[in-house]
Amino acid sequence: MATRYGNYIDGAWIPAASGRVFENRNPADTGELIASFADSGPDDVERAVAAAKAAFPGWKALPAPKRGEILYRVAELLLKQKEQLSRDMTREMGKVLDETRGDVQEAIDMTYYMAGEGRRQFGQTTPSEMPDKFQMSVRQPVGIAGLITPWNFPMAIPSWKMMPALILGNTVVIKPATDTPLSVVNLVKVLEQAGLPKGVVNMVTGSGSRVGTPLMNSADVGVVSFTGSTEVGRKVSEACAPGFKHCHLEMGGKNVIMVMDDARVDLAVEGALWGGFGTTGQRCTAASRVVVHQRVYAEFVERFVAGAKGLRVGNGLEPKTQMGPCVNLGQLETVEKYVKIGREEGAKLLAGGSRLTAGPLANGYFHEPTIFGDCSPTMRVAHEEIFGPVVSVIPVRSLEEAIEVGNSVDYGLSASVYTQDINRAFTAMREMYTGIFYVNAPTIGAETHLPFGGTKNTGNGHREACTQALEVFSEWKSIYVDFSGKLQRAQID
Ligand code: NAD
Repeated sequence: MATRYGNYIDGAWIPAASGRVFENRNPADTGELIASFADSGPDDVERAVAAAKAAFPGWKALPAPKRGEILYRVAELLLKQKEQLSRDMTREMGKVLDETRGDVQEAIDMTYYMAGEGRRQFGQTTPSEMPDKFQMSVRQPVGIAGLITPWNFPMAIPSWKMMPALILGNTVVIKPATDTPLSVVNLVKVLEQAGLPKGVVNMVTGSGSRVGTPLMNSADVGVVSFTGSTEVGRKVSEACAPGFKHCHLEMGGKNVIMVMDDARVDLAVEGALWGGFGTTGQRCTAASRVVVHQRVYAEFVERFVAGAKGLRVGNGLEPKTQMGPCVNLGQLETVEKYVKIGREEGAKLLAGGSRLTAGPLANGYFHEPTIFGDCSPTMRVAHEEIFGPVVSVIPVRSLEEAIEVGNSVDYGLSASVYTQDINRAFTAMREMYTGIFYVNAPTIGAETHLPFGGTKNTGNGHREACTQALEVFSEWKSIYVDFSGKLQRAQID
């Protein structure tokens, strides 16, 4: 019998009101059932929101350093259980063990970081225009945070949202992606072990339409933080607008590595392989476009293709595997669809292009690392998000052209330049309209103590991580204390 996990509501694990469940299978071997999870609906969301509402006054009243102490315990427990948590994540999501260890580590880092914010949460004190008057600003929690998360960073992204929400005194209802509920169940178990009071975090598993939609529409939810596709993000934004809810969106990407003619080509190739095929290309920051100066184009392409052909694809639990499967059949079919589109629009298929089904790969959603060369920036493979192991290489004649091509997509998450020339590096840094920029490194590798997020169709102006993450989960209150004992009229009331 497969393990069956319920929802976590008001400190108890309970089945969906309907009693229905859904299965979660290993994408590297669909014969392996990971577990079954509550297939919840609006009633379950309502119960979870009610629990979060009841827990809010108590959690808000707990001094922030005390909330921080609980988060420190969470981080310690995550650290202790890191290996098991990583293995569970590889089984349910497919990425290789080294990467799932990194995912859990990001959750640990974010939890320590936000625990520390329990003793900071700085506001301002400023002089008044009046004598005998004191003024300051403080952060206050918004209330109930509704968190909707994707499958590609199954524990990191939930932590990026949950920890800032909690340290500020908000209570939480989280809806994990249906492909990766186990990692959020594991995170919630750790919160429970660390002594988080009941009702402060609630988890409801199930589909986007039956759980995500009622969660973002709930009148009691004050802030919605969403990471996922731009298409769904737009719906979240529309749902939040009528009630003026705080709304934080992290969405799609079509990130670019720009390789200049003075670049160290060996380094750029390594970066493009890791940036393009790490997490099977299923990262919002994946380097799915590489723009290469024509003087080093032939050399770069030759080495890049050789590198891609040499990548070992397989089950992420095996130490030799360098690239795992796509997360599900739909994602694999999207990759196949784009390979067909690329061929039809005249991109040159240089590596890969097919599903892998030989031997032990037969039961999984595996696809070859795929490279299209001689792409023009207007080809669909070169400007639409594919979210799989497909990289488009585009030749250019100058840095200016590289920047123009780099900025020509609808997204603005991450970009990078490979060059030995500091003037070029800084020019590219300034001119690329993205939220993240790298020099002589691929488009991936963000750390928790710098803001994370993107421009254009990638984000709505907010940032995750660092102290910027506190903004969306708090309201500023400005406080004026007049101790003059008389009415003092301000110049501006
Ligand atoms: P998705 O938009 O399909 O789903 C994201 C979450 O939204 C899931 O929990 C899903 O169940 C839920 N959802 C789906 N439909 C919904 C609806 N109608 N109402 C409410 N909730 C709904 O995205 P995905 O396939 O899980 O993730 C891949 C996408 O996420 C890619 O576009 C990727 O670029 C993006 N992503 C962005 C970042 C970032 O930080 N910018 C990070 C990771 C992933």
